[in-house]
Amino acid sequence: MKVLSGLSLEQLENFMEEFGVTKFRAKQVHNWIYFKSVSNIDEMTNLSKEFREELKTKAIITETKIKVKQVSSDGTIKYLIEYPDGECVETVLMRFDNRANLTACVSSQVGCAVNCSFCATGKRGFIRNLSFVEIIEQVLTIQRDTGLKVTNIVFMGQGEPLLNLTNVLKAIEIFNNDFQIGARRITISTSGIIPKINELAEKELQSTLAISLHAPNHKLRAEIMPIENKYPIDELKKALLNYVEKTGRRITVEYILINNFNDTTEVAKELGYLLKDLKCNINLIPYNSTSNDKFKKSSNNNIMKFKYLLEHSGKKVTVRLERGADIDAACGQLKGKVDNVL
Ligand code: SAH
Ligand code: SF4
Repeated sequence: MKVLSGLSLEQLENFMEEFGVTKFRAKQVHNWIYFKSVSNIDEMTNLSKEFREELKTKAIITETKIKVKQVSSDGTIKYLIEYPDGECVETVLMRFDNRANLTACVSSQVGCAVNCSFCATGKRGFIRNLSFVEIIEQVLTIQRDTGLKVTNIVFMGQGEPLLNLTNVLKAIEIFNNDFQIGARRITISTSGIIPKINELAEKELQSTLAISLHAPNHKLRAEIMPIENKYPIDELKKALLNYVEKTGRRITVEYILINNFNDTTEVAKELGYLLKDLKCNINLIPYNSTSNDKFKKSSNNNIMKFKYLLEHSGKKVTVRLERGADIDAACGQLKGKVDNVL
């Protein structure tokens, strides 16, 4: 059986040649997959019944299943998605009131090898990379289930996207060409894999690079992110400056706020100084609790003070809205295991 999800228009045309139908039929099927996102071939109502029957004998739309779906009181939806080999990842759909955007937070790997101490995904270790089809299937699954069209993508689910860069770039190409989601509506978040940041800098990608910094110096960062020992912050900063110079794009600095750890006045000033000459916006993420908690979320007072101090250093600073915390769908809470959701 041919799986239709993930096929480009050209591939669909080639596949449909054997049915002896016109190229226009492939265009219609493409539209049913990426825009209307139907779940079965019978729903492709502008194709003749005979052709649908014939197609059904040779093709299916997807092999991906929704294992669990949870809806948060704020409208966020979290899916546990199962691939044919039985591995699962989580995908989150976020809607923001008063904005038309529908943002899918997609996973790039099953588990993650980077093992940041504040993140639930890292606790599982690395299981495997997702293929580009498995990545785009997450967005198709959301569209098929909700009947809505996703407008923005963030690679902020499980996994380190830059350690699966080939599949991530191929998925972005499909998001651009087949879903018609512009590169500027796509964000890749990384813990700081320097050689891959350099590689990305050479490509003319218009997507936003977000960097999970979380601390302004080596000592503090190494306490929560083991990757700091491999790719230290001084080198990382050089890579980021190079990235901005090569691409001209402003980057996003993500910064988790952990109570009395990295949210003090001194640390805010040090961070402001570090980022002074870097073209970036700063996104503060109040720490979300995970099981096995030794950290606490910063107090509102500390969050506001931290934001104020950074703004004073001339940066645009936003505080990330917490989405879906009641269903463990917020940043860092994705485990991708069945026992996480039952
Ligand atoms: N692996 C990539 C992308 C996935 S994580 C990365 O680390 O950048 C997406 C964001 O959520 C990252 O900035 C990550 O540091 C943050 N995050 C992880 N655990 C968190 C937690 N418990 N609370 C708040 N943010 C968290
Ligand atoms: Fe991996 Fe990102 Fe979690 Fe760190 S924060 S363990 S890099 S998914």
